[in-house]
Amino acid sequence: MQKASVIIAWYARLVQKMPELPEVETIKNELMPHVVGYSITGVELLDDSVVTGMSGGEFCRMVAGQAVEKLERRGKYLIFLLANGYSLVVHFRMTGALLLGSKNIDRHTRAVFHLSIGEHFVFRDPRRFGVMRLLQDIDDLTGKLGPEPLSENFTPNVLARGLSNHHIPIKAALLDQGLIAGIGNMYADESLFASHIHPLRKADALSPEEISNLHRSIQKILRLAISDKGASVDTYVRPDGQEGTAQFKFNVAHRYGKACPVCGAPIQRIMVRNRGTCFCPGCQSPGQGLLL
Ligand SMILES: [Zn+2]
Repeated sequence: MQKASVIIAWYARLVQKMPELPEVETIKNELMPHVVGYSITGVELLDDSVVTGMSGGEFCRMVAGQAVEKLERRGKYLIFLLANGYSLVVHFRMTGALLLGSKNIDRHTRAVFHLSIGEHFVFRDPRRFGVMRLLQDIDDLTGKLGPEPLSENFTPNVLARGLSNHHIPIKAALLDQGLIAGIGNMYADESLFASHIHPLRKADALSPEEISNLHRSIQKILRLAISDKGASVDTYVRPDGQEGTAQFKFNVAHRYGKACPVCGAPIQRIMVRNRGTCFCPGCQSPGQGLLL
């Protein structure tokens, strides 16, 4: 039992640091000029287990020679649309990264993609939780995801409808990729702080005004983080190896024990459905009916 709780705590710390929407959006934006319009001339798999759904050999055969027509992001997935109609989907999970250039090949490199332009990029992943897969119908994956929080489809009404079916803590609801795509631990905590909502409030009991505030905060926080090229709190780096700077504007995420920049109270950390959650006890009133 003790061992299980140690494993849960280790996992909780790890999943707190995975690339979320702003990080994957940054990877997409910065990789795009290097891959779109060029062909992937070959793939070297240094670790076959990085591919799911088919063998490593089949994956390499189907990707080699294909032009990259588009690069898209959906939720936390990066999607290469290939000329043969297949989609190469990358899920970075905890420590996955796509890096341009030869200097990045090391013992953590799991795959190397060679491009017709003469460049290459690598999939590097020290913890080895990241995966790549090739899908004929991308809807099999993205159809299960909720709306993109920065799209026109995501309105306060859509958020209110989604939350109305969720009798769970609001923090857990924000992490549900079927409700909203792309939000993870850091940006859920920051969005709740910005809208003065305690992470244990019931998702289905927020007032219309609170939902409207939360909607606005989610969009503001994500846009700001994209403009800062994501948050490098652990292993996340941009394709050129540089770090993002979004973490320097965090108010609560990764700031356990430090003073709240608004009221000065020490930031607290609690577990919400096995996810480490940082919040300010001064700014985020518990109100009535917390859910544990
Ligand atoms: Zn505060």
